[in-house]
Amino acid sequence: TLSDRLTSVLSDLRGKGRLSETDIDTTCREIRIALLEADVALPVVRAFVKQIKERAKGAEVSEALNPAQQVVKIVNEELVGVLGGETRRVRFAKNPPTVIMLAGLQGSGKTTLAGKLARWLKNQGHTPMLAACDLQRPNAVNQLQIVGQRAGVEVFAPEPGNGVGDPVDVARRAVADARSRQYDVLVVDTAGRLGVDEELMRQAADIRDAVNPDETLFVLDAMVGQDAVNTAEAFRDGVGFNGVVLTKLDGDARGGAALSVREVTGQPILFASNGEGLDEFDVFHPDRMASRILGMGDVLSLIEQAEQAFEEGQAEKAAQKMSEGDFTLEDFLEQMQAVRKMGPIANILGMLPGAANMKDQLGQIDEKHLDRVQAIIRGMTPAERADPKMINGSRRLRIANGSGVGVSDVNQLVDRFFDAKKMMTKMAGQFGLPGSAGRGA
Ligand code: GDP
Ligand code: MG
Repeated sequence: TLSDRLTSVLSDLRGKGRLSETDIDTTCREIRIALLEADVALPVVRAFVKQIKERAKGAEVSEALNPAQQVVKIVNEELVGVLGGETRRVRFAKNPPTVIMLAGLQGSGKTTLAGKLARWLKNQGHTPMLAACDLQRPNAVNQLQIVGQRAGVEVFAPEPGNGVGDPVDVARRAVADARSRQYDVLVVDTAGRLGVDEELMRQAADIRDAVNPDETLFVLDAMVGQDAVNTAEAFRDGVGFNGVVLTKLDGDARGGAALSVREVTGQPILFASNGEGLDEFDVFHPDRMASRILGMGDVLSLIEQAEQAFEEGQAEKAAQKMSEGDFTLEDFLEQMQAVRKMGPIANILGMLPGAANMKDQLGQIDEKHLDRVQAIIRGMTPAERADPKMINGSRRLRIANGSGVGVSDVNQLVDRFFDAKKMMTKMAGQFGLPGSAGRGA
């Protein structure tokens, strides 16, 4: 399997220190296979892998990860970037109703989505209405009415018994009805065919022209795989759309369609549908999709662990430095950043045993003060951070100006640092912190 192959690449490369061209090529070959197996379209795979190689070549060498892990990390970041770089919310019209038109092949999940969208909009305080503009299939109007009932929203439908109505006319009247009865969003369900066909496109384009949608969402079944590109291009050229919804993500599709469609049409993915139920629907999460497309969840969590372990290693090194008395402001800044990455300091300390008894003190921790401390240290030169004794009066003034604080703030920080260092050295001696026994370099 892919995972096995990757694990072997990972172990092959483990221990090497540099990101060589061979490392990059070997890993990229695996990435390419992973993307193809996820049904990403071939031209998209080619372009994407090329981009990855460029970035990997320029990448800084990480101390925490081996080369293969580094490349996978880069791939994951790029994927998240491409999938979500322009993630956006629904754009609502200044003058309601906001018109959202759904377009896509038959069976892609438009009618189901109409209900989900309506429920979601309602939960956000909107008053949506659905418009039944699929007059192609005999039961389509009825299906939307059932969906509307479940979602608890009104459905605008042609009067029954008038023969096959005109979907463009229904759409136009639905907008007028929504406006006059003050519904603020109208979701327009349209017809689809099993394959791309001219008549369908023309009808969808006519509906579009009649209602002038604020959002035209292309609804795509994630299970279609390689076909996604052709279908998306046909709808882009025939109707045009400015957003994508992926459906049936509860199936076993790896979701390569997401990347293909994003790359080929340039339009963002707004929502993801993952089931038949009304609530099986969410705004699109690029990170989840990236991990799914790569199919390397295990590798990705390994990478996270490796980075975390590296940071812990750093912390140990810092403790050792402390006990030896050569802890610098640079170390201090690093430690502070590492800890703060985990969240607000009070929350972290709050997790310690006995923290309940120190609620008041925790409440007093001032994150802004910590920001200020970081800013001051960043305003120092590396030499000053390494040897704070050299920070004389004129240097203090320069640092204060550069960091946007007063000289007294800088004075306080430097004084406190020396106090703390004295105390730490004493404590380290007392408690036998690392530094002496059994520790390799
Ligand atoms: P339309 O022809 O585009 O309107 O598609 P429908 O909304 O009628 O959906 C076609 C079929 O797919 C129906 O059986 C739906 O229940 C099903 N369906 C729609 N969305 C999803 C989804 O996200 N997951 C799953 N498993 N089924 C879905
Ligand atoms: Mg339908």
